[in-house]
Amino acid sequence: MFNITSVSHSYNHVPALADVSLTVAPGEIVAIVGPSGCGKSTLLRIAAALLAPELGEVKGLEARPGYIFQEPALLPWLRVRDNASVLAGSSADAHFVDSLLERVGLGAHRHKWPHELSGGMKMRLSLVRTLAARPNVVLADEPFGALDQITRHQMHDELLRLHAEQRFSMVLVTHAVDEAVFLADRVLTMSPAPGRITATSTVSFARPRAAALRYDAAFAALCGTVATTLRSASA
Ligand code: ADP
Ligand code: MG
Repeated sequence: MFNITSVSHSYNHVPALADVSLTVAPGEIVAIVGPSGCGKSTLLRIAAALLAPELGEVKGLEARPGYIFQEPALLPWLRVRDNASVLAGSSADAHFVDSLLERVGLGAHRHKWPHELSGGMKMRLSLVRTLAARPNVVLADEPFGALDQITRHQMHDELLRLHAEQRFSMVLVTHAVDEAVFLADRVLTMSPAPGRITATSTVSFARPRAAALRYDAAFAALCGTVATTLRSASA
């Protein structure tokens, strides 16, 4: 269980986050959507203990967090296989790292250098590197924001497959409503300046979620509901 309670934060006396609380159950994926500048990254940095909040507290981080950021931030001097295992620690996990690389289609590219990979492959490698450390909670800040739509959808499908196997909890920050609804069990919408959580939508589509769910009328309807909440919160 991962818990953020009544967190508020300001930068130079300008409030960026106001009284945000969030509980994530084991294995749950919670998405947070909000417009640019509403405080999503601030919230995630606080959740990751990279930033101490002015008010409020974060509990549950002793449960091995993993991070994924928009920038894959690979180490250019290490080959794919070594980048993948850089956070995994013990060499006992070598098998696990190799199986993750296989799962995301990078098995045949193990000996390549990062600069030899496409954007989507780099992101997959970044995902593998994070999961190789067997986190219980994954904190992701717009991880797929820089990818084209086809690659983004592939990444969503892979993420859900890995999630079904590893059952980590996840807090996913995104500005894309469809991404939030496709991946999450719950979608929280944030209002801007200062960011606060304005609504929660439960996403009850069964898992595993097929790619075709994206073209389902119920899926579109829920995206519409979330988008409407976002618009009214930003007005
Ligand atoms: P988001 O990730 O939703 O785009 P951020 O959390 O990055 O939003 O930013 C929220 C607000 O806080 C914005 O107005 C931003 O300009 C401000 N902000 C973020 N980081 C800093 C910082 N290090 N110093 C000063 N202001 C910041
Ligand atoms: Mg941000």
